[in-house]
Amino acid sequence: RAKKQGDTYSFFTHCLDRDARLHFELEQDLRKAVEKEEFSIYLQPRVAMTDHTLLGMEGLIRWCHPQKGICSPAEFIPCAELNGLIVPMDLWMMETGCRQVAQWNKEREAVHGKPPLRLALNVSAWHFRDNRLPDRVMDILKKTGCDPGWLELEVTETAIMKNLSGAIATLNLLRTRGISIALDDFGTGYSSLNYLRSIPVDTLKVDRSFIAAMVPEDEKSRFLLATIVKIGTHFNIHVVAEGVEEEWQRAYLESIGCPSAQGYLWSQPVPVPEFPYLRDTLPPP
Ligand code: C2E
Ligand code: CA
Ligand code: CA
Ligand code: CA
Repeated sequence: RAKKQGDTYSFFTHCLDRDARLHFELEQDLRKAVEKEEFSIYLQPRVAMTDHTLLGMEGLIRWCHPQKGICSPAEFIPCAELNGLIVPMDLWMMETGCRQVAQWNKEREAVHGKPPLRLALNVSAWHFRDNRLPDRVMDILKKTGCDPGWLELEVTETAIMKNLSGAIATLNLLRTRGISIALDDFGTGYSSLNYLRSIPVDTLKVDRSFIAAMVPEDEKSRFLLATIVKIGTHFNIHVVAEGVEEEWQRAYLESIGCPSAQGYLWSQPVPVPEFPYLRDTLPPP
């Protein structure tokens, strides 16, 4: 029996070793990826719920691994958040994304007289706590010729709650400079409703789990969703529904007055060359 326990224990430590080793390898790979800029930006359109006007897009990072191909953020962001590598990654996204949207908006305006698109980018909790963030963002906007009004930064409530007063100062600073702020994954944290009173935000992104839960027979989810939209309207905050996949979901969201959405119904995130930046509207295919 004692021997068996010993075996179990050594098996266990062996597993830990293996996990630690895999983590270490991933971290080393990520460091190289940051150095060599092995990333790519995918874009998912944000559209108006009713008439499908193309409003802008969210930039989502992909890692183009030399052997493994395109990796999704779920596979590497948790690791990058542990060691701060997420910061250079977010900055790479900002510089690449701002440069692209500046070029597109200038073409939209000059050649076609179309309104500008707004690019939304995710900011990790780690980076959000860094007080150099606002200056870095301004430097990138200047360098890339991107208007602050064309950029929205998506922050999660978890990132904000870690240091509420610091967060409010940062958000105010960014907004004073003309950058919009979205609360990402809204509704999945703890104190969402109470802190909405004090947090300066432009947009609420209703988490995909709410949209997925709103099957016709789930009255509670539908009521919650309608309430979030009402709160947004009342506070003069723009509401975006995430992860809309089906026409009936869109129709319900429209019926409760939710103004805009992202989701596979319109488009998956696509690489830059495939993004329809000259379109006025993007009706579901
Ligand atoms: P998120 O910010 O909540 O992004 C939305 C995720 O939902 C994206 O996954 C998107 O591809 C996916 N999605 C969009 N529409 C649908 C739909 O209709 N159905 C379903 N099932 N999924 C949909 P993705 O690209 O894998 O990104 C995952 C997460 O990784 C993001 O969640 C965000 O938290 C993080 N992330 C992505 N890019 C960056 C980045 O550049 N910086 C930072 N800090 N985080 C990032
Ligand atoms: Ca997001
Ligand atoms: Ca989200
Ligand atoms: Ca999410």
